[in-house]
Amino acid sequence: MHTAFLGLGAIGRPMAKRIADAGLSLTVWNRTAVRAAEFAAATGSRLASSPGDAAEGATVVVTCLPTSPDVESLLDGDDGLLSGMTTGTTLVDCTSGDPATSRRIADRLAARGIRFLDAPVSGGVTGAINGTLTVMVGGDATTLDEVRPVLDTFGAKIVHCGDVGAGDALKAVNNALLAVHIWSIAEALTTLAKAGVAPAVALEVINASSGRSNASMNLIPERVLTRAFPRTFRLALLDKDIGIAAAVARQHKVPSPVLQVTADLFAVAHGELGDAADHVEAVRIVERWAGVEIA
Ligand code: NDP
Repeated sequence: MHTAFLGLGAIGRPMAKRIADAGLSLTVWNRTAVRAAEFAAATGSRLASSPGDAAEGATVVVTCLPTSPDVESLLDGDDGLLSGMTTGTTLVDCTSGDPATSRRIADRLAARGIRFLDAPVSGGVTGAINGTLTVMVGGDATTLDEVRPVLDTFGAKIVHCGDVGAGDALKAVNNALLAVHIWSIAEALTTLAKAGVAPAVALEVINASSGRSNASMNLIPERVLTRAFPRTFRLALLDKDIGIAAAVARQHKVPSPVLQVTADLFAVAHGELGDAADHVEAVRIVERWAGVEIA
């Protein structure tokens, strides 16, 4: 099964490396070509000069870009993906995408006999390095079974979620919960700091009690109390994800004030902290507003 991988970013690169390390035949392409050249040299993969060139001869094409419109933008043109993909091949999009754009991409590919799965992942960069990602897949279940050997190289849990777009919807809602938890624990800890309870003491109690979350148990102790704020998952991407979740809720007319306001808060944080900031740095806005650090 020859695989092409497009998008060697923070998470795409270790995912592609898992495919190469598993011994599958691999071609890589990246917008900033030097990154793909370095990867190809390090792993023995074939370096492609364009998306279309990458797709030549591939039975499975994997994309991992910031947004679904970014993926759609690779389809067209003389060197676009559609120039290289042939009938019977499959595009597996591991982007945390949006359901509507994924459905449009799937329809365009289906007109040429090409299959499409939305297959966003969770588990972070560490999960990608260790091959322990969760992959949530929307689309045809038989197609998923065919491409499973590729997904197995980086995923430990592969879940068929429903039709095209179902993986994207689930991923966006999961990350909306992450955003809610980050913001709410930041408000909780700044409130308690003002009320005279040190953040470490507050966490000792909360993490043994019903208010705990992954944010309180892992993100805040490891990244905020230490002031390390490592850059593993950009705030811009979490802003995008909660925006997708809020839009899906509105589209289905689900009353969702918490999702909507959290989407607004992350848009403000992204605007203030910029494109390079990590998602956990949203805490800095809460700290700024409260006039106290979680330290
Ligand atoms: P990065 O920003 O680190 O990397 C983005 C990649 O996409 C780079 O290879 C970049 O190329 C490429 N790219 C960006 N815009 C375009 C474009 N218009 N056309 C072609 N290529 C483009 O993102 P991540 O790797 O962190 O995330 C990728 C996806 O995975 C996102 O949807 C994200 O939400 C999701 N995700 C990320 C996780 C994480 O922990 N990082 C966890 C789970 C999901 P270039 O090198 O030229 O900039």
